[in-house]
Amino acid sequence: MSAASLEQRILGALRDIPDFPEPGVTFKDITPLIADAELFAEVVRAHAQPWQGSVDAVAGLEARGFIFGAAIAVHLGLGFIPVRKGGKLPGPTVGVDYALEYGTARIEIHEDAVAQGSRVLVVDDVLATGGTAAAACTLLESCGAVVPGVEILVEIEALRGRDALAGRAVRSLVTV
Ligand code: 5GP
Repeated sequence: MSAASLEQRILGALRDIPDFPEPGVTFKDITPLIADAELFAEVVRAHAQPWQGSVDAVAGLEARGFIFGAAIAVHLGLGFIPVRKGGKLPGPTVGVDYALEYGTARIEIHEDAVAQGSRVLVVDDVLATGGTAAAACTLLESCGAVVPGVEILVEIEALRGRDALAGRAVRSLVTV
């Protein structure tokens, strides 16, 4: 165990990529963090620990929410629900469209992915405007899930994603 706090170590393992995916945007790259076996494992434990015994499944948002969400699901001994971008899942789906800064996006799950009344933890790597996470919560709930919380690795405070998730238990491991 390192002397630096987990928060400091996460911040030290994030890399800013300027002008990605478009000019003017600085992208928080999480790949150095997941390349560090010890830090990746600690992050997964930190996300999972508060939910031990109190959720039935973990939903991860495409694409980096799959990396953390699937690992958290395994840690908790639970199954994993992939929340995918529109048109990617092979079986019958249910989806929701949501607004982006320019245009709209769609996320989908398989129509049989959620057991009625099951408690589903939502996981993603970055909370920016909150639109994606809010849409995922709405979609899962429309399929009969209860969403007791949203676990986020990095919250970009200036983009006020928490406002889009008002009333929900949102926990981020670091805020930038
Ligand atoms: P939002 O819907 O909150 O505006 O955007 C969050 C979604 O976009 C998440 O699925 C997240 O993975 C992705 N995203 C937005 N900005 C970044 C970023 O700077 N770094 C990473 N890794 N993902 C981002």
